[in-house]
Amino acid sequence: MTQTQFTPRVFSGAQPSGNLHLGNYLGALRNWVRMQSDEFETIYCMVDLHAITVWQDPAELRHATRELCAGYIASGLNPEKSILFNQSQVPEHAQLGWVFNCVARMGWMQRMTQWKDKAGKNTQNASLGLFAYPSLMAADILIYHATHVPVGDDQKQHLELTRDIAIKFNNDFGVDFFPITEPVIEGAATRVMSLRDGSKKMSKSDPSDMSRINMTDDADTIAKKIRKAKTDPDALPSEADGLDDRPEARNLVNIYAALSDQSVEQVLSDVGGKQFGDFKPMLADLAVEKLSPISSEMARLMNDQSEIDRILARGAERAREITVPILRQTYEIVGMVGASTR
Ligand code: ATP
Ligand code: MG
Repeated sequence: MTQTQFTPRVFSGAQPSGNLHLGNYLGALRNWVRMQSDEFETIYCMVDLHAITVWQDPAELRHATRELCAGYIASGLNPEKSILFNQSQVPEHAQLGWVFNCVARMGWMQRMTQWKDKAGKNTQNASLGLFAYPSLMAADILIYHATHVPVGDDQKQHLELTRDIAIKFNNDFGVDFFPITEPVIEGAATRVMSLRDGSKKMSKSDPSDMSRINMTDDADTIAKKIRKAKTDPDALPSEADGLDDRPEARNLVNIYAALSDQSVEQVLSDVGGKQFGDFKPMLADLAVEKLSPISSEMARLMNDQSEIDRILARGAERAREITVPILRQTYEIVGMVGASTR
């Protein structure tokens, strides 16, 4: 079979499940902005259907979706260049998600570490949606025939599953229809850890607000959270291998490196030998310098919610120009009567 050439197209998304945080920014959003170029068509989604895999208060979900859109734009995504929309308004995501539920195997899903982490001990009480989440995520990507997906390190396994689903669909139906997507996991902070526990990633859904730096935190809050961040008693090393077995120290250095666009080695050659009492205020100043223009822009954008709603509606329309024909072709391949005449 000849290899189909797919248009270079970027898709990614974040959940309106709480506050955007520094991990989302350094691991994902910042790279999304960088990929917004002539080389790619870029499509960025607020994945509200994923958010409801765990309970969300409806009023908070509405607010979080709009605030997430404000966060995307304030970080540098341009709604004229990129397609910005919320997932529920493009029904082909969920429709292709159903087809993929019939392609993905139970065993594949059971191996997903996010499922194990989020469901916890009481898997019997987790929603079916939480279990099926990675199959909907595969649909989010493949309904655009996206070729590149910039994400944080925690999404690597879901992207491998997306590739497995594309391969199995193509094999099962003898087609070369879905692309095998490339994960793009780049930068010095692809996995920002919790400020309270260096073995857990920073998350929107962590119950402790002290565990993360929110994009909407003010300067005092950022400084306080960094001051209280867990560390060890030793001074900073001058070389990267001195961070081995020091997850909290490594995390703060990685954050500093990512925010200052330097390598970890460069940072350590400057700050090696310093105590955390000296390093933490430097990190706090840098974080405030980089985040405060974004948070003030977010607040400004949130003053005009009808403008945000217009951007989302227009984004959904543009997205459907791509998704409607791809879903129709999928249904045709699968053998659904009527798919070719609609
Ligand atoms: P939740 O806890 O509700 O799952 P989250 O903080 O994991 O929220 P998501 O909306 O699931 O955020 O993820 C959005 C993007 O941010 C994804 O690309 C994900 O890989 C990235 N991301 C999330 N947390 C981190 C982190 N700690 N470090 C780097 N990237 C991250
Ligand atoms: Mg997540």
